[in-house]
Amino acid sequence: MISVWQAPSAGAPLECGQRPAPEPAADELVLEVMHCGLCHSDLSMIGNHWGVSRYPLVPGHEVIGRVTAVGEGVDPGLIGDVRGLGWISGSCNHCSLCLGGDQNLCTSLEATIVGRQGGFASHVVARQDWAIPLPPGLDPADAGPLFCGGITVFAPLVDEAVSPTAHVAVVGIGGLGHIALQFARAWGCEVTAITTNLAKAEQARRFGAHHVEELEMLPDLQSRFDLVINTVNHPLDWSAVMASLRPRGRLHQLGAVLEPIQVGAFDLIPARRSITGSPTSSPASLQKMVEFCVRHNILPLVEHLPMDQVNVAIQRLAKGDVRYRFVLDA
Ligand SMILES: [Zn+2]
Ligand SMILES: [Zn+2]
Repeated sequence: MISVWQAPSAGAPLECGQRPAPEPAADELVLEVMHCGLCHSDLSMIGNHWGVSRYPLVPGHEVIGRVTAVGEGVDPGLIGDVRGLGWISGSCNHCSLCLGGDQNLCTSLEATIVGRQGGFASHVVARQDWAIPLPPGLDPADAGPLFCGGITVFAPLVDEAVSPTAHVAVVGIGGLGHIALQFARAWGCEVTAITTNLAKAEQARRFGAHHVEELEMLPDLQSRFDLVINTVNHPLDWSAVMASLRPRGRLHQLGAVLEPIQVGAFDLIPARRSITGSPTSSPASLQKMVEFCVRHNILPLVEHLPMDQVNVAIQRLAKGDVRYRFVLDA
């Protein structure tokens, strides 16, 4: 048997339960969970905010774990390896998107906590290509949040080949934003942190921001940025965001704001501005990210709690009371 932390119904606190130990299918492996980060998407799934949750629901998709069993076609020599697992746990590997290296866009991909058991558990199963080896020098205790929050903000830099001469603004200095600042700085960019909470200014500079601005001052920052990475999930003054972009500038939306993003045609047309978004990234980009983290000494800043305090972490994250990510330890 394995133990899991599961929500019995929408919005309910997690309860500890037992399930039969999972058998890995072909190409799958079983990870014994060592650490698992808590992401805002876990809260959205617990609350069924996206309408795709099934209960009992075991959240947790920023897993660091040790391989304890492998399915057919997986090298048994991997047993004992420490690997990271994020939002995606499997893709078909034979569609044109998978074959082209865009596995995260596969139309039959498997998400770690959608219709299957996630990482707030003693064990979790994944396809071997989505369980990413940790390079030497990456601290497994703090690395979990890289596999969802981290790759989410690394993707707009690596997958869009952002120039190191670009001026990048990061809106929201939370679980995603604090990693985005570190990535953009190490990428070589000029970096501006935009926050509603100037108490975070000094820490934002330590994460790599050259400049810190208050969100309400955005209308004063005209034609300033080549790329705005927006990590917040509530509506902004979208016209002011667009006006803060230089010609050819781009808003990259990562916060899952549920209201429509209202922009006018003339926010886009005259200066050839654009709006993009992205869902994490591919296994290849995940591997590039962890190597980049080791090379540039980048890690999430986390607060550790034991796994049996997962409900405390959930309540505090819901109030925004965390600097900057929780990691639950087995
Ligand atoms: Zn596919
Ligand atoms: Zn996540």
